[in-house]
Amino acid sequence: MSKSQEHNSNSVTANKDVSGGCHCGAVRFVAKVPDDTVVLTCNCSICAMTGFQHLIVKHEAFTLLSGENQLTSYKFNTQQANHLFCSICSIKSYYQPRSHPDSWSINTNCIDDFDVHNWRLERFDGQNWEQAKEQLDDT
Ligand SMILES: [Zn+2]
Repeated sequence: MSKSQEHNSNSVTANKDVSGGCHCGAVRFVAKVPDDTVVLTCNCSICAMTGFQHLIVKHEAFTLLSGENQLTSYKFNTQQANHLFCSICSIKSYYQPRSHPDSWSINTNCIDDFDVHNWRLERFDGQNWEQAKEQLDDT
């Protein structure tokens, strides 16, 4: 980062560029993620089954490059989360989480060359969703 960027109040933290997509390659995306973003691991019923680890990215920092017409939606329980998966290969590479209405959640397992050691992991207790969400908002 250059000195001038450090003093720009609009970019307090640097951004990491990430790219990724589904298994068959139909769904592809890029996103800009602030350096201090944590990866959330969740134990709720659906994340536990899929091993989904969340990288939360603001809607405006995310660009879907391809695959919009391949995405299929699955909703359950409160219907607020919109689980999007590829209708060809079944992989959920990103989706609309209930916890962050203004953001997408990217599946870190679907990010190109993702190295978990470069990120800080935090637990999200999705089995006790309401309390977990309160704690998240407090931080
Ligand atoms: Zn696919």
